[in-house]
Amino acid sequence: MARVYNFNAGPAVLPLEVLQEAQSELLDFKGSGMSILESSHRGKEYDQVHTEAVANYRQLLGCSDDYAVLFVAGGASMQFAMAPLNLLGPGQVADYINSGAWASKALKEAAHIGKVHVAADCSQEIPTRVPALNELKLTPGAAYVHLTSNETISGAQWKTFPLTDAPLVADMSSDILSRPFDLNQFGLIYAGAQKNLGPSGIALVVIRKDLAERAPASLPAILRYQTFIEENSLYNTPPCFSIYLMMLVSRWILKKGLSTLHRQNREKAALIYALLDGGGFYKGTARPECRSDMNITFRLPSEALEETFVKEASKAGLKGLKGHRSVSGIRASIYNAFPLEGVQTLAAFMKEFERKNG
Ligand SMILES: *Cc1c(COP(=O)(O)O)cnc(C)c1O
Repeated sequence: MARVYNFNAGPAVLPLEVLQEAQSELLDFKGSGMSILESSHRGKEYDQVHTEAVANYRQLLGCSDDYAVLFVAGGASMQFAMAPLNLLGPGQVADYINSGAWASKALKEAAHIGKVHVAADCSQEIPTRVPALNELKLTPGAAYVHLTSNETISGAQWKTFPLTDAPLVADMSSDILSRPFDLNQFGLIYAGAQKNLGPSGIALVVIRKDLAERAPASLPAILRYQTFIEENSLYNTPPCFSIYLMMLVSRWILKKGLSTLHRQNREKAALIYALLDGGGFYKGTARPECRSDMNITFRLPSEALEETFVKEASKAGLKGLKGHRSVSGIRASIYNAFPLEGVQTLAAFMKEFERKNG
């Protein structure tokens, strides 16, 4: 079996142990004689999976009883709509912090539903960054404040989150559980699973329960957080296999330890950032004080060299390094499951490429 080093931004690399475990029990789940793919979502096999997934994520995130952990289909983009549908009432304003492409998408969706105030905007700046805390122009009495903890495309990441009077809502798709954080600072967090937690098409949602009660009576049941809370994410048939994989990943994170993963993530990123700070051949896209430990973005002296870089890296088994189509350049996505050896291999490749082309 030849596994490559997979730098894709999402869907992204999963822990090998998780894939192997899923493979080993695919045909016969724990002696049931059927796959978990074929099991009833009300049956005891799936019930154990679902219960463990909820419990593990509660533990990993330090959820008190005030919060509910939900699994919602539709990925992070569904949450761009669901958050304002539930939390942004008529006559209210939601503050959106526009730090880049993903934040822009979130605020565009919210603007379909209610009144949005842009509390800061650095979405067009290069080098890329997230706003400083003292730049935020927050609205007194806002329904909530929305931010994007890690801009997957630009490679900029919040290192300290603002303390807000209004409930803080965060899209944590590309850095959730890559580092510890204080959930109590947030009213709602959500994350598309395909970066750090599992497969695409599903989001982990954590909400302070009292906020779910704000939804207007006209909102259909399937779009209400309250429905997911009351039915433990089993109102409809959930994406069972995706939740099963997310459960396996949660076990893997618990086994590794969140603080160990955080340390490893910083060490992995530092290996590449050292090269970007080095000679000038490679130039980091994000400002050093907010550069991401998950998505490392950089440029080479010319687009032609970038093309050659991606091509030669791919030949060497380093896949998925091409930057997002909207910004080009290079992007190395090195989520929790991305192995240290892969980053070391990339660093060695970069040094050699610079020696030949610099
Ligand atoms: C990938 C990503 C999304 C989109 O996720 P989907 O599951 O495709 O909707 C949203 N926000 C951020 C920060 C992302 O990285």
